[in-house]
Amino acid sequence: PTLLCSLVHMTGDPSWIRGEHRPQGLFLNEYQGFMDPDAQAEVRRLALPAIAAFRDGGCELPPEPSPELVHEMMNFLACEEVPDDILPMLLEEMELDGRDAGQVDWADEIPAEVREDAHVVVVGCGESGLLAGIRLQQAGVPFTIIEKNDGPGGTWWENRYPGARVDVGSHFYCYSFEPADHWTEYFSQQPELQQYFVDVMHKYGIDEHCRFGAEVTAMTWDDDTSRWTVTVRTPDGGTDTLDARAVISAVGALNIPNLPTIEGMDHFEGPSFHSARWDPDVDYTGKRVALVGAGATGFQIAPTIAPATEHLSIFQRTAQWVFPNPNYHERVGEGKKWAIRHLPFYGRWFRFLTFYPASGTDLSMARIDPDFDDSDGLAVSERNLATRDWFLGWMKEQIGDDEELLATITPDYPATGKRTLQDNGSWLRCLTRDDVDLIRTPIDRIVADGVVTTDGTHHPADIVVYATGFQHNRFLWPMEITGRDGRVLSEVWGDEPAAYLGITVPGFPNLFCMYGPGTNLVSGGSLIFHSECQIAYIMEGLHQLLTGGHRAMEPKPEVHDDYQARLRAEIDQMVWSHPSITHSHYKNADGKIHTVSPWPLHRYREWTKAPDPADYVYR
Ligand code: NAP
Repeated sequence: PTLLCSLVHMTGDPSWIRGEHRPQGLFLNEYQGFMDPDAQAEVRRLALPAIAAFRDGGCELPPEPSPELVHEMMNFLACEEVPDDILPMLLEEMELDGRDAGQVDWADEIPAEVREDAHVVVVGCGESGLLAGIRLQQAGVPFTIIEKNDGPGGTWWENRYPGARVDVGSHFYCYSFEPADHWTEYFSQQPELQQYFVDVMHKYGIDEHCRFGAEVTAMTWDDDTSRWTVTVRTPDGGTDTLDARAVISAVGALNIPNLPTIEGMDHFEGPSFHSARWDPDVDYTGKRVALVGAGATGFQIAPTIAPATEHLSIFQRTAQWVFPNPNYHERVGEGKKWAIRHLPFYGRWFRFLTFYPASGTDLSMARIDPDFDDSDGLAVSERNLATRDWFLGWMKEQIGDDEELLATITPDYPATGKRTLQDNGSWLRCLTRDDVDLIRTPIDRIVADGVVTTDGTHHPADIVVYATGFQHNRFLWPMEITGRDGRVLSEVWGDEPAAYLGITVPGFPNLFCMYGPGTNLVSGGSLIFHSECQIAYIMEGLHQLLTGGHRAMEPKPEVHDDYQARLRAEIDQMVWSHPSITHSHYKNADGKIHTVSPWPLHRYREWTKAPDPADYVYR
């Protein structure tokens, strides 16, 4: 289907998408539109002379398709009428006009001395901090990125466990203005992702602004000067301070390991570590491994290491919903890579194909229907029930007729209530191996040579891996952030972190968060998309400060509170809040959710175009 859209650009002839060869449906991470192989072959056969003619004509493009035709091409790929209100977001993402919609081009509007006085400290050099650096550089604003790790990449620097890969399609999980065409797999593995961020950093010369191996420990706002003093622990263990007009926190949200407190953990005699602190020197070949936790991390580790270990014991407290992604481990064929590189707009339409079904416009399967009987905790609506049946059907297919295993892996909460795993069957098949045990009996204690469950069974282990997730509710932690009038952010927040649009906080002027509270994506999307929204908003905020002659800006408390009320009301209607879900990193100790976004992506994009001056106090 993508090739047909590219042919429209190449030939100027819309009949390519108006004929008999068309996709039959669109499903997340299915790229052929369910066209039968003969039809696909026929399209390629018809395309070849058109491509050759395009080449022989000097690759001259005919006039660009009209907006109506572009919309028709979207409908063609989506196999439905793409709603008008999400068109602007899709067009920006696709950049058919060759324009980076987020490009900052106001540097010349502002006198150099004003810009030079506006030093910005960016905390973190993962995908969001690097993006902030690129935009600040375009704005001609001086900046320093402080990164605690020894290189860029954030989560992709830290999570080096076997099997680590992204679960958002790689052709979408990259900056809209840096659409890498080289991905080896549709869902890239950690080394390739980390390299992408290294390459982007070098390409934009951001490394010159980075201080690696340095950690921000504190920052304090001075109301007299309207500036932040940022305290940094330097690589040699010393202390440095930086002065900043504004601070952008780009510290991520899922990076403080959540190590469980299990009796006897310290007495285990072999190697043991959290998944995000994987020790590459520990050889698990021929060893008995205990894997505690089977969320998005554990379910990637298990099938990767199981063939090499002597025995793998997986301790799963709560079963996880899994849904099919046939391309999860698939390599991108050379033909597709060639097409992305050489055929006009092929890559952009492929991005659309990856993005559109994940754009979160339809969250109905996650919405609680108040009239639905959810007392058994199995579903929250008819649609959610159908989703449950569909997930279960696929899970059964993967494990055959092992009823005992099916009972063990069937979640006791509604579908999509926690982060749903997507798989090509590798996880479920791994569980059927003779040398793998999935244990749902709770852990009682850890002993020198293994794990003991509450039924008294001793599970011998040479290595223990804690794939037990992250402290999601501790945003910007452990930095000590002191704002206006001495208020301390960690005390203001407790375990109820909140920010206006997930970005700004009353009482903390000129502090901007990327991937802040209430912005983690649960149903589709890509965090890089969200980061592009947030940095656009932040840069417009800086523009307002620098052009308006203001020293500081912060959101009005009532605007912030109204937003929180709307956010809360929306989240309370979503399945993630359902009381049947007792363990979830989305929830805080009180079972309340302050971490994730319930908003469709296009709404968030609209709201983050620029700060509304009516929402802010400027000083
Ligand atoms: P997670 O989803 O929080 O899963 C942690 C696992 O450890 C769960 O099975 C949890 O059980 C278990 N656990 C936690 N504390 C425990 C305790 N005290 N005793 C026994 N078991 C315990 O963490 P994660 O797997 O690291 O994933 C976190 C998030 O990172 C994901 O939601 C996703 O957003 C992201 N992630 C993404 C990818 C990807 O893109 N491919 C890969 C990895 C992670 P319960 O379920 O009962 O709490």
